[in-house]
Amino acid sequence: MALKRLLLYLWSSPTSLLGLFFLHPILLTGGRARVVDGVLEIHGGLTRLFLEKCTLLPGGASAMTLGHVVLGRDQSSLDRTRAHERIHVSQCEKWGPFFLPAYGIASALALLRGQDPYLDNRFRLKLVMLLLLVWHRRPARDFCASACDSESE
Ligand SMILES: [Zn+2]
Repeated sequence: MALKRLLLYLWSSPTSLLGLFFLHPILLTGGRARVVDGVLEIHGGLTRLFLEKCTLLPGGASAMTLGHVVLGRDQSSLDRTRAHERIHVSQCEKWGPFFLPAYGIASALALLRGQDPYLDNRFRLKLVMLLLLVWHRRPARDFCASACDSESE
């Protein structure tokens, strides 16, 4: 099991390294960092400015996942979005170094279809479906049956 975790960290490391790029600038500007369930969560300092001004979302994002690193505007943003961001961590573990390019392609395809590159991104739609199923206490296999079928399209 430990070997599998290690391999997942290695497979996701290109994206996680991108997230770690933010660590020192954020800590030097008053931000904080801590590890929660194997994920480095960083908030405060420059993170707030970055998430408010440097994302495609109107009004900015509350949090962003880069591999095993999650950036949050503040601690309450991290607490509130943890379940959502952990699904992005799982997506990063699945797609490894291809996650960000695949996410970008999914956004571009949504844009080409005349849809919203964030709200209609396939990665996000699957995540929303999973969260809805969890909230309604349906077994995960219900989600996997449909998600795994559509994933091989
Ligand atoms: Zn998200």
